[in-house]
Amino acid sequence: MRPARFTLHRPASLHEALALKACLGDAATFHAGGTELLVALKARVLEYDHVIDIKPLEELRGIRQLDDGGLRIGALCTHHLIANDPLVRQHLPGYAHLSEHVANIRVRVAGTLGGVLCFAEPHADAPTMLCALDARLVLASTRGQRVVPSRAFHLGEFSTAREDDELLAAIEIPPQRPGDRSAYRSFGHTERPAVGVAAVWCPQGPQRLHLWVGAIAAVPTALVRTEEAARSLSPGASFEVAWRALEPVVSAEAEQLTAHDDLHGSADYKRHLVTVLAKRVLEECLK
Ligand SMILES: Cc1cc2nc3c(=O)[nH]c(=O)nc-3n(C[C@H](O)[C@H](O)[C@H](O)COP(=O)(O)OP(=O)(O)OC[C@H]3O[C@@H](n4cnc5c(N)ncnc54)[C@H](O)[C@@H]3O)c2cc1C
Repeated sequence: MRPARFTLHRPASLHEALALKACLGDAATFHAGGTELLVALKARVLEYDHVIDIKPLEELRGIRQLDDGGLRIGALCTHHLIANDPLVRQHLPGYAHLSEHVANIRVRVAGTLGGVLCFAEPHADAPTMLCALDARLVLASTRGQRVVPSRAFHLGEFSTAREDDELLAAIEIPPQRPGDRSAYRSFGHTERPAVGVAAVWCPQGPQRLHLWVGAIAAVPTALVRTEEAARSLSPGASFEVAWRALEPVVSAEAEQLTAHDDLHGSADYKRHLVTVLAKRVLEECLK
């Protein structure tokens, strides 16, 4: 099917894009890589009178290091670009690895990080990892800028904290401390993940584990009891020792996760995958 007719706008600057959206309201939507939007428009699941093409906007591009050592990733960065970026590979190899395995090469070269976050289809990889990394999302509108923690951004399936006139400009990831390790693993039978698990292990200072599960439910969720249990691991504990202590907590917590039987697998199977994938990411972090 063809999309319903719409007017395509090509603003020359971020300022112009925001002004257009403020003026056209919910009759308009942003177009980045189009990998989700065009499919939805063609299927007429979504219809807009106006489409604002943000792809040419330089202000939304590039990956750079912030003064505090963190990384700022422009919302228009594609998964392919992130996977191959020297700064991401150096500071966040676990995130580079994730980006290398999103979908297929056609989706990776066109699909953007901003698009996957704003579309909020739950079967996605990056949102889970960004929650574990405690990333911040920079939203811009004609009213100014505001920053929303990634952990508070997704509100439900296809629902986010972004106001209709706001555009996601960038994603900021806090600096990693020496010794910090992060990892992500997912599994699924379709092109999208059935379950994904992200871990960030910070052994210095008061040791902390961030362990997040995604795709299984509408929004990424932290395994908070496992995170709490990880605080009592002996410093420098081997993976084998740590897993002996954490495995019962992870499995008990996984058992209680909300999950549904669907084309990605049965709810029980997905809960089982959580423990399997948690073991793999923890092994990678503690090795
Ligand atoms: C076949 C297939 C397989 C996939 N498999 C995976 C997978 O394995 N793992 C995974 O993580 N993802 C997967 N995806 C999702 C993929 O990551 C997204 O399609 C892609 O990143 C979306 O980016 P885009 O630039 O194409 O968004 P678009 O299609 O251009 O936009 C999507 C939505 O987000 C809005 N939007 C886009 N950018 C912004 C912005 N900066 N500010 C505000 N709103 C914005 C648009 O208005 C639109 O509503 C898959 C997608 C497809 C089609």
